[in-house]
Formats: sequence, structure tokens, C-alpha cells
Amino acid sequence: MPFAALGLCPAIAKAVAAAGYTEPTPVQAAAIPAALAGQDLLVSAQTGTGKTAAFMLPALARLANPSEVRSYGPRVLVLTPTRELALQVTRAAETYGKFLRRVRVVSILGGMPYPVQNRLLKGPVDILVATPGRLIDHMRSGRIDFARLEILVLDEADRMLDMGFIEDIETVVAATPASRQTVLFSATLDGSVGTLARRLTRDARRIDISNARTRHENIEQVLHYADDQRHKMRLIDHYLRGVDVDQAIVFTATKRSADEVADALVSQGFAAAALHGDMNQGQRNRTLGNMRRGNLKVLVATDVAARGIDVQTITHVFNFDLPRAAEDYVHRIGRTGRAGRCGIAVSLAGARDHGQVRQIERLTTRAIRVHVVPGLEPRIAPTRRAPAGPTRRPPNRGAAFAPRQGAGRFAAAGAKTARPAGKPTARGAR
Ligand code: AMP
Repeated sequence: MPFAALGLCPAIAKAVAAAGYTEPTPVQAAAIPAALAGQDLLVSAQTGTGKTAAFMLPALARLANPSEVRSYGPRVLVLTPTRELALQVTRAAETYGKFLRRVRVVSILGGMPYPVQNRLLKGPVDILVATPGRLIDHMRSGRIDFARLEILVLDEADRMLDMGFIEDIETVVAATPASRQTVLFSATLDGSVGTLARRLTRDARRIDISNARTRHENIEQVLHYADDQRHKMRLIDHYLRGVDVDQAIVFTATKRSADEVADALVSQGFAAAALHGDMNQGQRNRTLGNMRRGNLKVLVATDVAARGIDVQTITHVFNFDLPRAAEDYVHRIGRTGRAGRCGIAVSLAGARDHGQVRQIERLTTRAIRVHVVPGLEPRIAPTRRAPAGPTRRPPNRGAAFAPRQGAGRFAAAGAKTARPAGKPTARGAR
């Protein structure tokens, strides 16, 4: 996704390009449009994810329009736990705002002489970046007017709480207008920071980025290159016949292919069913119920339908098609390895899917190992990346794959019969 698609004004887009950024990071892609729309945000993103630009670019965009309130006070307030971070945020504001006219950025940090800060606060301030303790000192001496404050950013909120700033934060927030937009960034949104976050925001949109990096250590992730849909079916068949598979979810890009893959799996002898948005709620509930009760071995789902599925016996997630957005990869594989268990995520990529694979690896900051099943090697070499080493075969597999009855365009090579007619609902018992 290019920066231009995020809706930033030309002066900011120019500054971003001058900084050498070619495309937004995941937290930027998720947060910037929502922030521009005026939504409150709760973002779990660690440092290094590009989070500063994620809040600063939309804040600067707001400053392009003049305030209707007559005051010299800040229109944007960024609270940070440390001086170092405050200075970094100040530099970022100056860098990204350099082609905007009259954006005045002031930082108010502990350890700096008061007279200098008093002078800075006398003139108009657009963006105020501050550590909580020193800001409170200036508030108490009546030097800060929040009458025109539009955006409050709490950066690294978890660290601010760890450092004992909770009361200071509450005091600052209480002094700001209720009409403000509140944006909170934190490495985690669990525990006390989550409670604070919910109290300070209204209908906040939640964005989880840090999870992409930190979770899923308990999930083994592998990648297979496949020549076509039939090849993918044969690979999935290979895995599903392993004794280590309890239950599995197969993700497809479209509702139609969810139906087709489910039908193909049924014809190959698996208790499989599709789950997607064209099914009514009753059908969806029944299918999910069958999965939970263990009547189904495989659920073939689209991204939206699979959100929130929490079945602890799902041992495997297959990406029949790679997700369009790298963030969805994280959501998908998170359907396995739940409640402290281990899981296996198997992604099937076409030879030209290298770019998507790279995006996923960038988001999760880990390389996905490429596996090859002996006898099921891809004929078409993947662009710019070679397979490395054979897959670990599940134990007791025996004759791992034999040609079976197939279904339509997904039939495994060698299949003799056509896809049987049937509805994509739960079929058969395991
Ligand atoms: P942050 O997480 O805000 O501390 O940013 C980490 C680093 O990523 C900083 O050095 C930023 O300059 C850089 N950065 C932020 N956004 C992008 C982007 N879209 N493309 C490349 N680098 C970026």
C-alpha cells in the first residue's frame, strides 16, 4: 500500500518521501486512516514499528486546518515516559512537518531549565511533547492552556505506568477538553494499562501490532511452494493424514474457494466444512458447534468468518491462499497454539507470491522456513527464493499420499472422479 492511499495531504506526503519511506509500516497502515477519521485509538505497538509516524502524521494533518479556538495553547499533546523519547518524537514532528507552514513544536522535559521552558510556552504552540512530571509543574503555574487541544497522544503508556506516572497522567487528562481525540500506544494493552486505556478513550479502535512480533513463538511456521491448486490440495492431504493433526483450519482467499476446498476435502474422506459470510448465522453456528464438539476435522474458512474462532484442539492452520494483508497472517495462525499449546502453520505459496511472503516476514520479523515434501516438490521454481530441505514427516505416516478421489479444479493429480454435488456444511463424523 503506498503512502498516498492513506489520505495524507501533499505537504506531509512530501516529507515522508524525503525521509526515504516508500510504504507505510503495518501500524501506520492501520492507524493513520483511523486517526485521520478522528477515531480514538488503542494501539499495541512496540518501538521500532514506525509508531511515531503512525500518530504524528495524522496529527500534523489536523494542523493543516486552522483552529477555531483563540488560544496559544497546544493543539496536540504527546506525553512520553522519558526525555529521550520526547526528543525523538519532537524530531519526528519537525521532520514530518517541515513542508507545512507554521507548525511550532515545543518539548517540555525534566532536567531542562525552567526559564527556557517558560519562554517557549509564552508563544503559540501547536505540538507539545512532554514528560508528565514537568508538564504538571507548568500546568500548576498556569503556563499551559488546553482550550484548543484536539489530540492527546499517550506514547509508551505501559512504561509511563511502570514509572509511576499514573496520577500525573490522570491530572493532565482531566485538564484537557472532553472533545479531544485520544490515541494511546503501548507495548501491551493488558492489565492496568488496558484499564487506563479504556477509561481515557471513547469507542476506541484497537490495533494490535506488537502481538505480531511477540506472540506465536509456540507455532511452528513453514512454507511450501506449490505449482497450482491441485498441488496445494495434495500438500494439504499429505499433512492432514499425519497423526499429529487433531483439527485444522484451512484459509482461502474467497468464499467460492472455501466451498470448493471443503468439497474436495470431503471427497478425499475428511470430515470438512466451509465457513464463510454467504452462510446464514444459523449455518455458521452449527458448523462452529460441530468443530467445537470434534465432529469436524477441518474447517475451511475465509478471514472474516474465522475471526474470533477459539477452538483449543486446532493443531494446524493452513494458508491455502496467502492473506492479502500481512496482518491477517498473524490473525490466521493465531487460531492454533491456543491456551499455551503448540501449533503448526503451513502456508502454501505460488511461485510468484514472494512479495507477500516477504511482507509477512517483515511484519513478524522472522523468516518462514521453506519445506519440500519428497514426491511433492514444486516444478516451478519460486522467484528469488529456493526451497531449503525436506519437511519433517509426521511419524507413523506410512504411505503418506496416494492419489484419491478429487474434486473439480482442486482435484489432486491422478484423481479419477469428479466433485460430488453437495452443500458446504458439516459432513460426516471424524
Ligand atoms: P519508531 O517505531 O517510531 O521508533 O520508528 C522506528 C524507525 O522506523 C525510525 O527510525 C523511523 O524513522 C523508521 N520508519 C518509520 N516509518 C517508516 C516507514 N514507513 N518506512 C521506513 N522506515 C520508517
